[in-house]
Amino acid sequence: CGIVGFIGNKNAKDIILNGLTKLEYRGYDSAGMSLYNTRYQIFDIYKDVGRVQHLIDSAKNSALSNIGIGHTRWATHGKVNKENSHPHYSQSRRFIIVHNGVIENYQALKSQYLKYSNFTSDTDTEVIAQLIETFSETLHVDNAILTTLKLLKGSYALLILDSQDPEKVYAAKYKSPLLIGKSDEGITIASDLMALVGYSDTYYPLEDKTFVVASRDDVRVFNLNHELIQPNFKKIELDH
Ligand code: GLU
Repeated sequence: CGIVGFIGNKNAKDIILNGLTKLEYRGYDSAGMSLYNTRYQIFDIYKDVGRVQHLIDSAKNSALSNIGIGHTRWATHGKVNKENSHPHYSQSRRFIIVHNGVIENYQALKSQYLKYSNFTSDTDTEVIAQLIETFSETLHVDNAILTTLKLLKGSYALLILDSQDPEKVYAAKYKSPLLIGKSDEGITIASDLMALVGYSDTYYPLEDKTFVVASRDDVRVFNLNHELIQPNFKKIELDH
């Protein structure tokens, strides 16, 4: 299971698919990706059971996008099928998310906050997308995400896209690994350093209970109280 996301001045699809391919060794049952479609102004979603190679084939004719997120799934909640593979989206499709980890209280959250939401999967993950959308009806997107994160019990490495602002990738981490990579060409966020190599000059492993707002040329890290944290980026050095 793994996560790769990108925003910057390069083709996000290549970075995501190369990254997911490098993470294949970890094992997974399904693979998926979301890329922005400038023509229709929506995030397209490609996902299915099976290998990353299958994802590569099905996204062959995708629009060129400078932003995107990708995922390989190791199912914990919900069968291995296309609907349960990531990315997942909220009811109106405004928010698109990928998640590694387990949300232990997803049933309780569903019955407390999401009685009237229509679900398209059996995953714990979809609850996160639906909560963010529900809270975004009254809150700014940053606060809708933070409010959601504070309710989650379990583990998560998360990437989030907002169709209403396709110039940002949001990320969050608790007990599942997530690293930010930076170069002049953009920001890559992945669950494994391997997926950053080649696209980033420096990296920063996120700490637990952090929230990230990444744009093309800037990345800001916050704690769950929305206070800025100063990330300490280190050079990526490889032994040859
Ligand atoms: N719990 C989520 C699911 O079953 C994410 C699993 C993962 O880490 O890949 O879909």
